[in-house]
Amino acid sequence: MISATQIYDAVQCPHRVSLDLWENPSSRDDPNPFVELLWHQGVEHEELIRQSLPVTADMSLVAKEDRERETRAAMARHELLIYRGRLTSGDLVGEPDLLELRGNGYIPGDIKSGSGLDGEDSEAKLKKHYAVQLAHYVLILEQTGLGDGSRAAFAIDRQGSRVPYVLTEPRGINNTQTWWAFYQEALAEVRSIAQQTQTTRGALSSVCKLCHWYSHCKKVLVAEDDLTLIAGFGRAKRDAMFSTFRTVHDFAVCDPETYFDGKVTTFDKISQDSLRKFHARAQLLSTSGASAYLKEPVHLPVARHEVYFDIEADPMRDVVYLHGFVERMHGQSATARFVPFFADGFDPAQEEEVFRGAWEYLQSRLQDSTIYYYSKYERTAYRKLARKYPDVCSGAEVESLFASPAMIDLYFNVVKKSTEWPAYDQSIKTLAQYLGFSWRDTHPSGAASIEWYHRWIESGDPAIKQRILDYNEDDCLATGVVVDGIRAL
Ligand code: SF4
Repeated sequence: MISATQIYDAVQCPHRVSLDLWENPSSRDDPNPFVELLWHQGVEHEELIRQSLPVTADMSLVAKEDRERETRAAMARHELLIYRGRLTSGDLVGEPDLLELRGNGYIPGDIKSGSGLDGEDSEAKLKKHYAVQLAHYVLILEQTGLGDGSRAAFAIDRQGSRVPYVLTEPRGINNTQTWWAFYQEALAEVRSIAQQTQTTRGALSSVCKLCHWYSHCKKVLVAEDDLTLIAGFGRAKRDAMFSTFRTVHDFAVCDPETYFDGKVTTFDKISQDSLRKFHARAQLLSTSGASAYLKEPVHLPVARHEVYFDIEADPMRDVVYLHGFVERMHGQSATARFVPFFADGFDPAQEEEVFRGAWEYLQSRLQDSTIYYYSKYERTAYRKLARKYPDVCSGAEVESLFASPAMIDLYFNVVKKSTEWPAYDQSIKTLAQYLGFSWRDTHPSGAASIEWYHRWIESGDPAIKQRILDYNEDDCLATGVVVDGIRAL
């Protein structure tokens, strides 16, 4: 039976659907504590939301084997709101969190512990993995004659707000494909994987880090010298070029201009500039002993004061719990000093207090320092914090802070624009490790830090707090190492 979870997985990575079905489970990584935390938070959140809803029939109380029969009986009675129902139709199975009576039929809804939309304000759009799950339930309702015919659904987000998912709408301003058609494609793909009429390949990407097949896939991809090992390359480009180049090495030894065709290339949606850029990365990866280099001159003068800035946030709770700064004098490592602003809990008052402290610190350092951070994450978080705590600062002040010439986004303004590295990605961890830096923690990651923070809140164990602080300090120091490394190129 094809479930909504498989459709959800397929839009992230079809290979995961295939491995979950056909690969030996013993090849999976051990359960990831962060993924388990997400699951527990999701269960807790769903229960809280359920208690606030006027549920008229609760199928979670019914034994699994009776659930479909009881769900259909509840629908026949025209129950207004059914929780945790189960329906099947042909090879499809769906367990929507909610089934809501609308007119003579039902629409499905899911309770989500994340935000209901991707992006913010006017740029926000439906989340593709939520949309396909909801579309899956709508199709089952249609096929069983129990739907209301509108192809509408909804998600209840982490704030408890209802977010309509109108599946007949196009996916974006420039993308006229409807969400319904997008779901149909995903369903067809999962069906072919389940029937083994389609094979899939792994593709190294950011979603891999939290996937239980990560070690397995990375080993295979490295052994196969797969094109997705090239930083930023991704599945779509790999698939577009796969009939021409099977490996990084094949691509590295070609002359990319052979594939130029007028102003474009012979590969779908790969521009000439992209092809040149990825070709250079392929050459770096396939040349033993290759070194990072500058693509253009970079001016990063050593300042009297330099600050390296990094935050830790829990996106499920929408809380920034740590603003960390390492400051150095005249670029000297020996002068490095860590200045953390650590929230002692999830309470908004605590988050506001540390935001105020960090904001005041940044305002004072802005007078005499160059301040480095890595990518847009800090700016986005500060915009949100300013909306939550207007007494600390306004949105306009946040814009003005990040527009200041003293603030340097090391990733976007320097690494991405002006450098190349013999590495599978350009994350701060990868680049700092390439330059010889090592984290004190053996398993450092932002996701792990969130899990530690939750454990620290529960236990109050000072060793866990120190682990979080050490990890953040090392992230800040790593930013300095990359600044120094680029200066040395
Ligand atoms: S590790 Fe990556 S490529 Fe492999 S199944 Fe998971 S998401 Fe897909």
